[in-house]
Amino acid sequence: MTQARIGVTGLAVMGANLARNLARHGHTVAVHNRSQHRTKTLIEEYGHEGAFVPCETPEHLVAALERPRRILIMVKAGAATDAVIEEFAPLLEPGDMLVDGGNAHFLDTRRREAALRERGIHFVGAGVSGGEEGALLGPSIMPGGSAESYAALGPLLEDIAAKVDGVPCCTHIGPDGAGHFVKMVHNGIEYADMQLIAEAYDLLRQGLGLSPAELAEVFAEWNRGELSSYLIEITSEVLRQVDAATGRPFVDIVADRAEQKGTGRWTVQIALDLGVPVSGIAEAVFARAVSGDAELRRAARALPGPSAPTAGAVGEGFAEDVRRALYASKIVAYAQGFDQIRAGSAEYGWDVDPGALATVWRGGCIIRAVFLDRIREAYTAGQRSSAPASLLLAPYFAEALTVAQGAWRRVVARAAELGVPAPGFSTALAYYDALRAERLPAALIQGQRDFFGAHTYRRADREGVFHTLWSGDR
Ligand code: NAP
Repeated sequence: MTQARIGVTGLAVMGANLARNLARHGHTVAVHNRSQHRTKTLIEEYGHEGAFVPCETPEHLVAALERPRRILIMVKAGAATDAVIEEFAPLLEPGDMLVDGGNAHFLDTRRREAALRERGIHFVGAGVSGGEEGALLGPSIMPGGSAESYAALGPLLEDIAAKVDGVPCCTHIGPDGAGHFVKMVHNGIEYADMQLIAEAYDLLRQGLGLSPAELAEVFAEWNRGELSSYLIEITSEVLRQVDAATGRPFVDIVADRAEQKGTGRWTVQIALDLGVPVSGIAEAVFARAVSGDAELRRAARALPGPSAPTAGAVGEGFAEDVRRALYASKIVAYAQGFDQIRAGSAEYGWDVDPGALATVWRGGCIIRAVFLDRIREAYTAGQRSSAPASLLLAPYFAEALTVAQGAWRRVVARAAELGVPAPGFSTALAYYDALRAERLPAALIQGQRDFFGAHTYRRADREGVFHTLWSGDR
C-alpha cells in the first residue's frame, strides 16, 4: 500500500480544509479525528478530490505514514494540543515531525518543542492564517522549528500555500516558538487594522452623514489605491450587505460589541514584557473591551458631548483626509508590529527575517495588502544589518507620512471636536510625534521619580548617574 506523505489529525473546518488542499495538490493524506464522524464525513463528501487514507486511531495514522513521519495537528488550541501530543509522541520515532497548526501561544510551543526534542521528535509550531477559505485555497503559513524539519516539511507546505508572483506565502520563520510568535503579532496587527478601518467608517458616517451603501462605494474606491487589501475589500462587502429580515443595512442590525479570542490580548501582554510600544494594537484590544461593556456604556450615555452637530458637519475633502489618515495610522500599526517581532526575535535568539515575513504575508492571510510589498522592499533593499530601525524611517513610508500628515492631524482634531472616538488614529499620530520630538517630557518624569523615590537620573549634558537633594529631603 502507498504510504501517505503526511497525516492530519483534527478534522474540524481548518484541518479538513488543509487535508483537502494537500490532497488536491496530489499528496496522499492520512486523516484522523478523535470523533470518527468527522473523518467519515470528509471522505464521503470530498474523498473524490484526491488520495485520502482514513484512519480510526492514532496507531493507524502513524502506521499509514512514510518516514520520517509528518503529522499536522489541527485541534483546539491549549489543553487539547497537549493531549494529542501525548497520544502521538509515544508512537513516533526519532526524526518524525509533529506540526501544530493551531493558534498556540508561542511559550507553549517553546515548552512543547523542548520536551519533544529530548525524545528526538521535531515539533513545529506553524502559524496558519487565512481562515477556512485560506486553508482550502492557499493560506499563509509561518512554520517555526528546526531547519532540518523545514527541509522535510517545507516543500509540502509551500505547495499548498498561497502564491504571489509565483512565490509561496510560506517560509521557515525560525526555531521553536518563532512561527507562533509571528502569527500572534500578525493577529495583533489584524486587530489594529480592523479598528482603524472601523474608525474611518465611523468618522465618515457621523461626519459626512453617508449611508452604509454609500460607504461601501467609498471603501470599494479606496481598495483600488494604496489601501488595497483584503480587509478593505471585505469592509465594502459588509457595508453593502442588507439584512434579509428587516431590509435594513446589515451593519445596523448587528450588536455593536466586538468579540475576541485572545491573540490580540497576547500580543499586547508580550509587548509589555518586551517593552515595545504597540499602542495601535493595544488601543484596538481596549476598544473591543469598551464596546463589550454594555452596562458601563449605558450608564455613561448621559455624559455630555460636544454641542456641534455631527451628521454632515464636515466639509469637502474630509473623505480624502480620512483615507490619508487611515493609511498613515496603518503604517504606524504595522511598523509597531514589526518592532515587536524584532524585539521577540532578539529576546529568544530566532533571527527572524522581516523581509521574508512581509513576503509571506502578501497573500493568503487576513492582513494581505498591496502595502506589504512596500514593507518587503523596505526590509530587503540593502543588507539585513542596514535595515531601517523602524519602518517609518524607510524612504517610501517616510514620504507617505509626509504626504499624509496634514490630513492625519485634521482628522484627529475633527474627531475630537465631533466627539467621535478615534483611539487608533489618535494613538498612531501621538506615537509618530513622540518619535519625532527633539525633547520629550520624560525628563520631567525622571525629575518626579528622583523627588519621591530617589530613583536617580541621567543628565543630557554629562555622563553619570545623579540624585538631587530636594528641598523636602531630610
Ligand atoms: P476547533 O473548533 O478549534 O477545534 C475542533 C477540533 O479539535 C475537532 O477536530 C475536535 O475533535 C478537536 N479536539 C478538541 N479537543 C480535543 C482533544 N482533547 N483531543 C483530540 N481532539 C480534540 O477547530 P478549527 O476551527 O478547525 O481550528 C483548529 C485550530 O486551528 C485551532 O487551534 C484554531 O485556533 C486554529 N485556527 C483556526 C482558524 C479559523 O479561522 N478557524 C484560523 C487559523 C487557525 P472532535 O471532533 O472529536 O471534537
